[in-house]
Order: sequence, then C-alpha cells, then structure tokens
Amino acid sequence: MTQSSDAFSGGCQCGAIRFRAETVGRASICHCRMCQKATGGFFGAYVTGRGVTWTRGGPSYFLSSNKIRRGFCSACGTPLTFEQLEGLPPGQVELSIAAFDEPTRVAPVIQVNLEGKLNFVDHLAELPTVVEPAAWTAFKASIVSNQHPDHDTETWPPAGGDTN
Ligand SMILES: [Zn+2]
Repeated sequence: MTQSSDAFSGGCQCGAIRFRAETVGRASICHCRMCQKATGGFFGAYVTGRGVTWTRGGPSYFLSSNKIRRGFCSACGTPLTFEQLEGLPPGQVELSIAAFDEPTRVAPVIQVNLEGKLNFVDHLAELPTVVEPAAWTAFKASIVSNQHPDHDTETWPPAGGDTN
C-alpha cells in the first residue's frame, strides 16, 4: 500500500473505520454543549479535512440537528466527524483531531462557542499530579489492547492477535 507522507490518516478505536484526508484546514476546539455530548469530552476538537476518503468501512450518523450530522463508529463508538448537511464541497468533512494517527500534526489554532465552556477547563493544566500506585502499574502491564494501531493495516484484526 502506498501512502503520501503528506496525507493524514486516522480511524476509530476498534479499526473498523479508517480515513484519509489529502489536506487539512483550520483545527479548532468547540465548547458548545452539543460537542460536549457528542464526544463525551470537555469540548469538541475537529479539523477540516479535504479530499477525505474512507479507506476501511464508513461511519454511522446521528442527526444532531436539522443542519448537522455526526459520524461515529457503530462498532466501538468513536466520534469521527461533524458534518454540515448542505453547502460543503464533496470530500470536505470536519474530522475528530484525536482520531488521527498523528494528532500533533493537527493542533487546534482557534476556539469557538465560549458561552458553553465548562468552568474548569481553563484550570486543567493546574491540576496536581499523582504518582500511580504500584498495583496500577502492574494492572496496566497486564492489559492486552484491542485498539487499532496508529497506522493503516492491511487486515484487521490481525490473525495472530498482535496489535502492533
Ligand atoms: Zn470502531
């Protein structure tokens, strides 16, 4: 499989859905209540993808309003898109930043809908950190991940159970 190093790939947690964007535009975070609910996060984080193709599977949709549908993986639940129903050129979709294989390539540059911002969001970086107990470290070492790796794969899940 060939892939342009300039392309942007990503997908859902289980790997049933994979996408590629030829280019990306402005990356943003949105504090509106709908984005909070749709992502299960403190804010939505999306980037405009152009030339978007679904290279494995495709999203299911929830019509969150009369203007917008939100794409997600029906197998694992990962939120994947925010899409205007009308007015956008083919292949242009807002894609979840954290669903990209390399999210640091699409760092957000603006924030919108501040009226919905959760009042603790501005203070997250100030939270104290704790050293995890040894029992938790041991538990983490015992985990066998079912998450798709951060790159395209020829087949998924792998026949041998190797997740890397
Ligand atoms: Zn999935």
